[in-house]
Amino acid sequence: MAPSIDSSARVLFVTPECAPMTKTGGLGDVSAALPEALRAAGMDVRTLLPGYEEVLGVMAHAQLRASVRVLGFDCRLLDAGAFIVVDCPELYARDGSPYQSRDGRDWDDNPVRFGVFCKLAALLATPDSPLAWRPDLVHCNDWPAALAPVYLHGERERAATVMTVHNLAFQGLCDPALVGPLEVPASYFTPDGLEFYGKLSFLKGGLVYADALTTVSPTYAREIQTPDFGSGLDGLLRRRRDVLTGILNGIDTQTWNPATDARIARRYDAGRLEAKAENKAALQRRLHLPVDEDLPLLGAVGRFTHQKGIDLLAAAADELVAMPAQIVVLGKGEPEHQRELAAVAARHPGRVAVAIGFNEDLAHAIEAGADVFLMPSRFEPCGLNQMYSQRYGTPPVARATGGLVDTVIDGVTGFLFESAESAALVAAVRRALAAYRDPARWTRIQRAAMARDFSWGEAARRYADLYRRLATVPQR
Ligand code: ADP
Repeated sequence: MAPSIDSSARVLFVTPECAPMTKTGGLGDVSAALPEALRAAGMDVRTLLPGYEEVLGVMAHAQLRASVRVLGFDCRLLDAGAFIVVDCPELYARDGSPYQSRDGRDWDDNPVRFGVFCKLAALLATPDSPLAWRPDLVHCNDWPAALAPVYLHGERERAATVMTVHNLAFQGLCDPALVGPLEVPASYFTPDGLEFYGKLSFLKGGLVYADALTTVSPTYAREIQTPDFGSGLDGLLRRRRDVLTGILNGIDTQTWNPATDARIARRYDAGRLEAKAENKAALQRRLHLPVDEDLPLLGAVGRFTHQKGIDLLAAAADELVAMPAQIVVLGKGEPEHQRELAAVAARHPGRVAVAIGFNEDLAHAIEAGADVFLMPSRFEPCGLNQMYSQRYGTPPVARATGGLVDTVIDGVTGFLFESAESAALVAAVRRALAAYRDPARWTRIQRAAMARDFSWGEAARRYADLYRRLATVPQR
């Protein structure tokens, strides 16, 4: 349900990815859902996106509003209603993801690609904007949007700025020689500004110069102020803690709804949980595992990175299989993790299936068909999959960190474990499977998980409050 926000603040939501056009992770989902929730509540929110091929492809109706030269590049501003697209084929229309080529290497010119993007975002928030529509507030998301507050700082007349950190580990570090080409004032390149140990840090720029900072869960907001989670920026975040808040992400409850999900074998809800068995059988068949209703099926979906604890899962797999259980994993990422998981699957034919790739349909099938969802993350700013899995009656076993702490109730809607070690993961799965073998208890847990409200309403209300507070304060 849409929150009731009676605000007339105009907001430019600046993001490098937005589902369904482009999505590499949670930011893509958030960038689709949050502006939509705010618009549904009556706010005037427009999303600024780079003109990747997938974006231009669905914006054929967009109107050309202005042509501007930014940092030496000719850019066209396309107006597609809720979206403003920066069309500069030379920078954005490439075969690959927003950040990488198909072979998984970052584009060499990412700092310039996103520098141009940020410079344009800033331009739109000043009286020099070529557009008639001018935002009161610019909401910047992650490092590719983080130079916008830097460019706006010191402008006589400008919009307020919010910097949201979806993942502090991605900072957009680049060569200091780019200070000039990016037209960052040289006086800002100091340890108090956007210098990070000799490099130019996009994210640090945003964290220093934005009027307000947010991150995507209250626990992660506290964690990033500590050396263990702060990626070298914890001191800065402690200094700015008065303007830092954690606002938990919501999920798209229409896309992720087992009662209406067209991507799963059989739809179900909390009153028809027995139908979940059909989804389990369909998943087992799809991944060439023996169909066995009684064998617990553990599922995982996500980027294969150190962050996600894929190595912990690989190290735990032999013991998990021996419980006994089947395991299905979907994801892609670092080759060493892909190799580790492939070796696990080879050791346990018929018990472990690993699907490499990005596959939305299979992600839905795993949420619906698994009995238990695994999320052994070392850190997790918010995490979406544990919310999806609770909604699908697939209780998560998750590490007690970041947004996982804020969304999983241990022993009630899922299972949390403290230490980032495979033994702790194994022990938590053991606890989960003990509950699984007690059908009445398991159903209680599934229903408690499915009853949780992870919709965007509350988050949208909080962002709207923040926008209103900032938009009414005169800016420097
Ligand atoms: P992060 O943003 O750190 O990758 P989140 O849990 O916040 O993690 O969001 C991940 C999103 O991307 C979820 O919607 C998840 O389902 C999706 N996802 C990640 N990897 C894959 C994959 N290999 N195939 C399909 N969806 C994926």
